[in-house]
Amino acid sequence: MYDYLIVGAGLYGAVCAHELHKKGYSTLVIDRRGHIGGNIYTEQTGGINVHKYGAHIFHTNDASVWNYVNRFAVFNRYTNSPIANYRGELYSLPFNMYTFNRMWGVTTPDEARARIEEQRADYIREITARRGMSISEFEPTNLEEQAISLVGTDIYEKLVRDYTMKQWGRPCNELPAFIIRRLPVRFTYDNNYFNALYQGIPVGGYTQIIEKMLEGSDVRTDTDFLDPRYRSSLSSEAHNIIYTGPVDAYFGYDLGHLEYRSLRFETEHLDTDNYQGNAVVNFTDSDTPYTRIIEHKWFEFGVDRNGQSIPGTVISREYSLEWQPGTESYYPVNDEKNTALYEQYRKRADSEPNVHFGGRLSEYKYYDMDRVIARALDHISSIPAR
Ligand SMILES: Cc1cc2nc3c(=O)[nH]c(=O)nc-3n(C[C@H](O)[C@H](O)[C@H](O)COP(=O)(O)OP(=O)(O)OC[C@H]3O[C@@H](n4cnc5c(N)ncnc54)[C@H](O)[C@@H]3O)c2cc1C
Repeated sequence: MYDYLIVGAGLYGAVCAHELHKKGYSTLVIDRRGHIGGNIYTEQTGGINVHKYGAHIFHTNDASVWNYVNRFAVFNRYTNSPIANYRGELYSLPFNMYTFNRMWGVTTPDEARARIEEQRADYIREITARRGMSISEFEPTNLEEQAISLVGTDIYEKLVRDYTMKQWGRPCNELPAFIIRRLPVRFTYDNNYFNALYQGIPVGGYTQIIEKMLEGSDVRTDTDFLDPRYRSSLSSEAHNIIYTGPVDAYFGYDLGHLEYRSLRFETEHLDTDNYQGNAVVNFTDSDTPYTRIIEHKWFEFGVDRNGQSIPGTVISREYSLEWQPGTESYYPVNDEKNTALYEQYRKRADSEPNVHFGGRLSEYKYYDMDRVIARALDHISSIPAR
């Protein structure tokens, strides 16, 4: 009999397993997939570490989480600097002085601010006049209004509108304003996407981190906890359960399905050594059906552990998809309806004896990796050593 059954060999489950093992507990970790790592799983193809479930860049402001994760891998100095391709025009992201220079030819922060301010003001003036209200009464009622009131029309039309429509499967004027609360605008020549003190990619990929975390645990892949054939026997193998799968699935969806946005990746190994010159290129026009192309080798600067150039390349085209029950769940849709439904499931989860629900699927939240680690450490810290 194990002390803990951990359902899900993703980051949350693996941190829990590692910390419980250190405290003297025995752990069985299972995953319904054929591999460990959950969504941060990386797989080597031709010497390149491919991010199978989408680009993952570790970034955090939390020094203790950064020190913790560095125990399991050496991190490189990768800094996320995506590029937007709008019909062949290339723009620097997030919106910064390079972007404004390309868009309007401006070179100073004051000129850039003035352009944005002029476009915002014109837009708000026009829309309030049409609605017969004063400018001070303006409240964005949808994502389009919200975005233009933050960054003006040019940036909205070339870099936000069609990309967001592809991501959400609906035009921006039919999407709620809350999706874009802020649009990062920088009046410096800084194209570091994340405003984080610490950032990097583990040299050799993420899977090694999970492998090291799971040392000392028994691990079974291709094992679905919710398969009725195994659920009760698996439960009886341990005194406690840490469940990191979807909370609605745990309860048989009996209150309904929590909705997600899904993704599809089309991955190709190509003969060329350099396909697009950057790890991440976003396609912000409506004619290109995918949202971005990831060229995986650039997360590690195109070299192996010895600094030797890796021949060939691997790219993934990323398509945003309507989620259907049974497809991979990527981004929770935290609107009013789904939040209310999650709250009902959460109440039931809270009263489930000897089961702890944690991680992105169980908590129905988008968590970056650093938050997942912090939350798992926090949970295990409340459990006394054996
Ligand atoms: C496209 C995308 C890009 C991202 N990029 C970044 C980034 O750049 N930086 C960053 O910090 N974060 C990023 N994230 C977030 C990151 O993926 C998560 O923080 C992390 O994967 C969450 O770990 P987890 O253990 O909670 O969930 P998961 O990784 O999903 O692990 C849960 C595991 O449980 C398993 N499971 C589910 N149900 C069952 C069952 N019934 N039986 C057995 N096993 C089960 C699943 O197979 C899965 O392996 C990104 C997320 C997405 C969607």
